[in-house]
Amino acid sequence: MTTANTARVLDIAVLAGDGIGPEVIDATVPLLEKLAHDAPYTFRFASHPAGARHYKATGIALPPETLAAARAADATLFGAMGWPEIRYPDGTEIAPQLDLRVELGLYAGVRPARPLPGMPQQLADPRAANIDLVVIRESTEGLFALRDKGTVTDDREARDTMVITRAGSERVHDFAFRLAERRKQRGHPGHVTCVDKANVFRSMAFFRKIFDERAQRFPAVQARHNYIDATALDMIRKPWDYDVLVTENMFGDILSDLTAGLVGGMGMAPSADIGDEHALFQPCHGSAPDIAGQGRANPTATILSAAMMLDWLAERTGVDALAQDALRLERAVDAAYASGRLKPFELGGRDGTGAIAAAIASNL
Ligand code: ATP
Repeated sequence: MTTANTARVLDIAVLAGDGIGPEVIDATVPLLEKLAHDAPYTFRFASHPAGARHYKATGIALPPETLAAARAADATLFGAMGWPEIRYPDGTEIAPQLDLRVELGLYAGVRPARPLPGMPQQLADPRAANIDLVVIRESTEGLFALRDKGTVTDDREARDTMVITRAGSERVHDFAFRLAERRKQRGHPGHVTCVDKANVFRSMAFFRKIFDERAQRFPAVQARHNYIDATALDMIRKPWDYDVLVTENMFGDILSDLTAGLVGGMGMAPSADIGDEHALFQPCHGSAPDIAGQGRANPTATILSAAMMLDWLAERTGVDALAQDALRLERAVDAAYASGRLKPFELGGRDGTGAIAAAIASNL
């Protein structure tokens, strides 16, 4: 057994944020500590302020020290940020997660969707149990590129701009193809669908053209295309036909909420924001003001995001135990739900944050 002296120390910046963010983070960190006990790695968690409440108190949403800590850490674990009543003077919401994506170059928003055993299916078709797809959302440009820098002219006309660059598209397409290659080795079909609106927008035709160019480099993976509207329809008709999907920022934002809904709700949907140097792991959901402070938040999405963090750290560090523990954590989540007795509030049940975390912990 490896002793604590030789264990690889991993610095994790924890940005819990607003609303249910701290609740789901508090449920997740002890599980990571439990896994790290006697493992050849250990975590050093450090919490840092950011978000809407912090903005209200200080006038700063993302302090430079917090950004520096996320940059210096091995990975960032993120809860949720934003609060409807706290806004910038121009009326936009506080969303430091968007700044972090740009600052840390987190261009690939990875949003897996697979139903957990024992969960009620949203689609009546029995094949819905086989949904196992990953949406890759380009996270640094697209329709979010200018964010709040769009223009309103004379209270008459508003414009936002879609930005698609060659460099941004190449790296996100390559990411999607590499992911499909790795998934193929684990028995997945091994195809990537470029989701766009290339029949209408030049920016989207450019995105697709670069997708086709990059596909040549990944002969083991099948490259497919679909329009965003047709894909939305497919998500109701045959989502089990999809493996990896890659798309522009705004389409990805919408599509990944849809796929989260397909497999059980926001509290079930994990995500990772990955770049070449840094990565941040967070649930797909926001701060959920309607249920904040009530102990009703489902921490499953954050716990599954933490499993994604372990997997990513395994690849970065070469510490195999991290990959094994990612699997252990995922299996503990599956086992907790498999009996059918665990039912989160968001799915009409009576299990809150603590009960769900405890059920998962007991299966570790
Ligand atoms: P954002 O735009 O910041 O991502 P949002 O507007 O999509 O946020 P959320 O905060 O994700 O909104 O909440 C959407 C709905 O999902 C709310 O009704 C909320 O209560 C519910 N919800 C979100 N996360 C969870 C969770 N972990 N557990 C239970 N319900 C949740």
